[in-house]
Amino acid sequence: MVVMTPEAGEAEIAAVRARLETTGVHVLVLPGELTTAIGAIGDPERVAELGLEGMAGVDRVVPISRPYKLASSEFAHHEPTVFAVDGHMIGAPSTFALIAGPCTVESRDQTLRVARTVAAAGACMLRGGAFKPRTSPFAFKGLGPPGLEILSEARAETGLPVVTELLDAAHAPLVAEHADVIQIGARNMQNYALLEVAGKLGKPVLLKRGLSSSLDELLMAADYVLKEGNERVILCERGIRTFETATRFTLDLSAVPWLKLHTHLPVIVDPSHASGDRRLVEPLARAAAAVGADGIIVEVHEDPEHALCDGPQALYASDFAGFAERVAAHAALDGRALS
Ligand code: PEP
Ligand code: MN
Repeated sequence: MVVMTPEAGEAEIAAVRARLETTGVHVLVLPGELTTAIGAIGDPERVAELGLEGMAGVDRVVPISRPYKLASSEFAHHEPTVFAVDGHMIGAPSTFALIAGPCTVESRDQTLRVARTVAAAGACMLRGGAFKPRTSPFAFKGLGPPGLEILSEARAETGLPVVTELLDAAHAPLVAEHADVIQIGARNMQNYALLEVAGKLGKPVLLKRGLSSSLDELLMAADYVLKEGNERVILCERGIRTFETATRFTLDLSAVPWLKLHTHLPVIVDPSHASGDRRLVEPLARAAAAVGADGIIVEVHEDPEHALCDGPQALYASDFAGFAERVAAHAALDGRALS
């Protein structure tokens, strides 16, 4: 929609119309009491490239259609995307995915023990980072390739599929060899080259919302993966930067029902990174179930005080079974059972 200034005359309106028509869009001139608006129905990309904002008599150009194409439920894709990861349904309105594990693979023993605990409590996937994005370059960055081997061993023993982060395109073949789901971390949500690499690996992609990214930007990032022909994308709300400093990030729970309205992709919530405080993880996990999330991803450790990364937000492994039971009860209120 092109809104003209009150001073715009016939010649300026005609010039805008003529320029729009060069793209083949359908043009509708809508004269109002004060200003004239010109509607353009057709390819928004081509209209965006016309430089209409700079034309004489144009006040503003207001996009009406959404900027994300493939992730949108507005165009061709109305039905929710549902897929199985090793037999566990993701995105079905009747299932709730409980993804749990350590922040970081620290050792074989630590990872296998947590994997057994979360498997026994009904988790459908094991999380754990072998390559960690750390704010300080001097912090522990993960075990790297041996960490991936440990995750594979945990899968072999527990049967849990593994979700782990792809931090660098150079690691893609190795990570794809060990991961069942490729995680793109919040800090890389707008690393478009990495998104394209992840989209080509033939595995589901868990895409975390950027620390300061809008939901439109999240869905456009998802489009980068989807355009590689990969339909299996899981969106993850993990908290965003706001003025509030009491919690590590601010969990944007309204993102869940908003995304459910505007995209066909499954949506999960990460209450661990959002809050940074294990005492908040259960209430936020229950809230995630209440607002219709398709699952949660949470961090668990046997000895969080000695964790190499994110200890304060890790649930005690000894509490995990009770946690899972209570969250499952809340998911059941929304008609969902653990997948
Ligand atoms: C993680 O899940 O391990 C992680 C680093 O999360 P985020 O990218 O959301 O900070
Ligand atoms: Mn973490």
